[in-house]
Amino acid sequence: MGSRHEKDKAVNVQVLLRCRPFNDDELRSNAPQVVTCNEYQREVAVSQTIAGKQIDRVFTFDKVFGPSAKQKDLYDQAVVPIVNEVLEGFNCTIFAYGQTGTGKTYTMEGECRRAKSGPKGQLPADAGVIPRAVKQIFDTLESQNAEYSVKVTFLELYNEEITDLLAPEELSKIAMEDRQKKPLPLMEDGKGGVLVRGLEEEIVTSADEIFSLLERGSAKRRTAETLLNKQSSRSHSLFSITIHIKEATPEGEELIKCGKLNLVDLAGSENISRSGAREGRAREAGEINKSLLTLGRVITALVEHLGHIPYRDSKLTRLLRDSLGGRTKTCIIATVSPSVHCLEETLSTLDYAHRAK
Ligand code: ADP
Ligand code: MG
Repeated sequence: MGSRHEKDKAVNVQVLLRCRPFNDDELRSNAPQVVTCNEYQREVAVSQTIAGKQIDRVFTFDKVFGPSAKQKDLYDQAVVPIVNEVLEGFNCTIFAYGQTGTGKTYTMEGECRRAKSGPKGQLPADAGVIPRAVKQIFDTLESQNAEYSVKVTFLELYNEEITDLLAPEELSKIAMEDRQKKPLPLMEDGKGGVLVRGLEEEIVTSADEIFSLLERGSAKRRTAETLLNKQSSRSHSLFSITIHIKEATPEGEELIKCGKLNLVDLAGSENISRSGAREGRAREAGEINKSLLTLGRVITALVEHLGHIPYRDSKLTRLLRDSLGGRTKTCIIATVSPSVHCLEETLSTLDYAHRAK
């Protein structure tokens, strides 16, 4: 993709690949490693012999993070420039895409909730993109002499229906039981964007508050899972941070800069490949399929400068419409496992991510 960027600076889609370390199960079963990362060459190689047939494929990405890459490495190299854009008043989106269990949530949220958070102002080493972005935003804003506000929303998209992950508990139970009848409606805001009616907007005043918000959101996601008998691997979550900065121009006029950062933890990509496989799951699979497939088409249309961008074809792309394309920056972090057990899904993730370039 590097070469394409050099030819065409207007394309602002970056695709990164992250391969997680072996987990305990894979180590115990001595699972052969089929994925090799070359961070310097920005290449990922997949090789394995199956039934006498040799698979050897190499994919190039904008950046590659191997199993030993730390949360901080990925953040510093890939996310810092994106958050700087947001602080300049632009809208940007970061997606985590990959098979369930490959590290999407680890990458986006991290394990900061379980870890004791360190001394005030310090992030745990396992903190993911969301807490790091919030910290970068507050560190920058606090060092400037300007008035600002930071608001966040956190929602889940399941079966093309929206649930508020920050709504107060009482409301949410009713909302959950009533869900089939009354999911939160999505409406055009008349300015090219959309709004979700009734979605809780939380004003954040310091980076430390982010951990309790994340905790609340994930607790809610778990409740919804049990109540609705579903798995989070089939839902998308969208964490949005909106920043308003009031600045004075040299002429003494007031200027409001507004930037938005969307952080999306996508449904497990295995939901695409197995869509419609089982009776009863067909609609659900189709709907998840719809947001993931539409996202792929939107990104392809943006990268190839097609006239028509099919934003309207899914809720996810409608929600992100004002943050994909144009002057915005998009980053896709594709996640894979190194193990032979995931080979098939790994290849399909690499193909999908590669097509997005
Ligand atoms: P997903 O959200 O894609 O289903 P998770 O983020 O829940 O996957 O990751 C599955 C498990 O693997 C978790 O226990 C997580 O802590 C661990 N894990 C994922 N990526 C990494 C990584 N890069 N380094 C260390 N542990 C990881
Ligand atoms: Mg997850």
